[in-house]
Amino acid sequence: RAHMARGLPKQKPIVGVKEVIVVASGKGGVGKSTTAVNLALGLMANDQSKTVGLLDADVYGPSIPKLMNLKGNPELTELSLQVYSVFFSMSMGFLVEDTAPIVWRGLMVMSAIEKLLRQVDWGSLDYLVIDMPPGTGDVQLSITQNIPIAGAVIVSTPQDIALLDARRGAEMFRKVNVPVLGLVQNMSVFQCPKCSHQTHIFGSDGVKELACALGVEVLGDIPLHLKIRETSDKGQPMVVSCPDSPEVIVS
Ligand code: ADP
Repeated sequence: RAHMARGLPKQKPIVGVKEVIVVASGKGGVGKSTTAVNLALGLMANDQSKTVGLLDADVYGPSIPKLMNLKGNPELTELSLQVYSVFFSMSMGFLVEDTAPIVWRGLMVMSAIEKLLRQVDWGSLDYLVIDMPPGTGDVQLSITQNIPIAGAVIVSTPQDIALLDARRGAEMFRKVNVPVLGLVQNMSVFQCPKCSHQTHIFGSDGVKELACALGVEVLGDIPLHLKIRETSDKGQPMVVSCPDSPEVIVS
């Protein structure tokens, strides 16, 4: 621990990967995976010459295969290549049946993460986006200690309980010297499709206030929108299926 506090963890880059960006959240269900997928696709949309990979490190609840409509065994990382050119992805979801429970002790989880990081042939990537498990546990800590990370994007709803955990997440990254690139506010407003009335279901500006308190940027503010849920469930994320939609932020 003293070793870590001094900011000297033994980090080893992933072969072929230039920059690692982690997408994290304090708690589950706030839109972390949805953001990670769309961030990876957004990075590609922004500059087609960039190669981008996506690693689903949410070992207990892998959702990237469903979000990207990918199936198959690990050899089929090329499958994603066919779906979105130069897009590589890897997830525990490729390795276990959809309905199989993942009942692992901590050490097994670490070993799985280590394999996903080091034993996947990522090729040459400009960016590897890692969809972290929610919270601030062993897996998150071990990832931040094992590989150099360019920055963390933290996703939260404006609800107090989510913000409290998001703040813990931000503090954890700071402790291990990972720069917090900014916060993404998700599900802040719902606009009724019939009468256009806007409702702030989880509160309105909580993430903005937290960003201010932490001295970091708000990178995006995403409404609660039926199309976002539908496109995610279909495995055709917003950036790809509705690139011109106002909900899509590519900057
Ligand atoms: P997490 O990774 O934080 O657990 P997910 O990205 O899996 O969260 O999102 C949880 C659920 O909420 C998914 O069904 C997803 O499609 C949906 N969802 C996420 N963000 C939005 C949004 N802005 N509008 C509508 N549905 C959303």
